[in-house]
Amino acid sequence: MAIQRVRPFRRAAVVFATHGNELAGPFVAMQLEEQDRFAEVAPSMECSCVEANPEAHEQRVRFVDVDLNRQFSAEVLASPASPEEPREIALAKALDKALGPKSSASPAQDLVIDLHTTTSNMGMTLVVQDMDSVSIGACAAVKEELGADGIPTRILWERTTREESPYLFSLGRHGVLVEVGPIATGIVEAGVVADMREATERLLEFFQRLNDHGEAARAAEAEGREAPPPVWGGGPVEVYEDLGIKVAPPQPLEDDVAMPMFHAELQDQDWVPLRVGQGLFELPCGEVITYKGEHGDDVVPIFVNEAGYQNASSGVGFGLARKTVVDTLPVVVEFERS
Ligand SMILES: [Zn+2]
Repeated sequence: MAIQRVRPFRRAAVVFATHGNELAGPFVAMQLEEQDRFAEVAPSMECSCVEANPEAHEQRVRFVDVDLNRQFSAEVLASPASPEEPREIALAKALDKALGPKSSASPAQDLVIDLHTTTSNMGMTLVVQDMDSVSIGACAAVKEELGADGIPTRILWERTTREESPYLFSLGRHGVLVEVGPIATGIVEAGVVADMREATERLLEFFQRLNDHGEAARAAEAEGREAPPPVWGGGPVEVYEDLGIKVAPPQPLEDDVAMPMFHAELQDQDWVPLRVGQGLFELPCGEVITYKGEHGDDVVPIFVNEAGYQNASSGVGFGLARKTVVDTLPVVVEFERS
């Protein structure tokens, strides 16, 4: 079986306030820092906490000009600076310099963990991208651990290359976005904080174990012994593929001052397959927009009634995903031979 060999994990960034009104992430980051958790869970790594959008965080808003977490594609990062540039595009370029650059095979951060919350009933979701087999393996291992601790976890797989990815966590050599909900924006809530903290610590512990295994394998080789089995042995991982489709609510009728409502049959039904005839949205006049089956009978809604998805720059409406399986390779950290 092929093995994926990667360089050691030296530096990790725990990023918070990428969306300035999601307040569990900042609390968890401060917990980890102020309770010296990094030395405990990832002693071989230099870990830091990064406040992605301080201005939005201070104002308790998702963003100031445009959604920061959509500005990290190679194309946007390479766009020429201009005085009319939205604040978050300039910010994305500065973060790329600090954490990446993404165009480099050796970005400053070996691992980026970006902390988010959602107003939708998603539970614990670990978001990974393209064939970052290492991060998919990490999420699969952590999903098992969290599940055993009573935190059901799903993996959302973004089918995008690192270059195309618009997300902040694509700046690191590897990256995971931790998404926890439901929680309203603008508040901190103990249960969400506890789950997010546990997921973050367990992810860091996994990468620490990869480093430890790399050291042990090097020592074994030097002594002519067989290397211990890999921390992540590869194999199929169940994920939900983000189909990159947004189902937007209808426009309000002319006389309506109220916005359309998510239908009761869809509210809180994240991850539950859509069925033909299911109510999606409801207008004050009583008209119901139903699912017609246009995306098939095996798609699940995600980010149902996510408050941020009322913004054009975030993408309006709820998302769709489909359960699938990705194959991963065993992962081995390779230290330089001395
Ligand atoms: Zn967010």
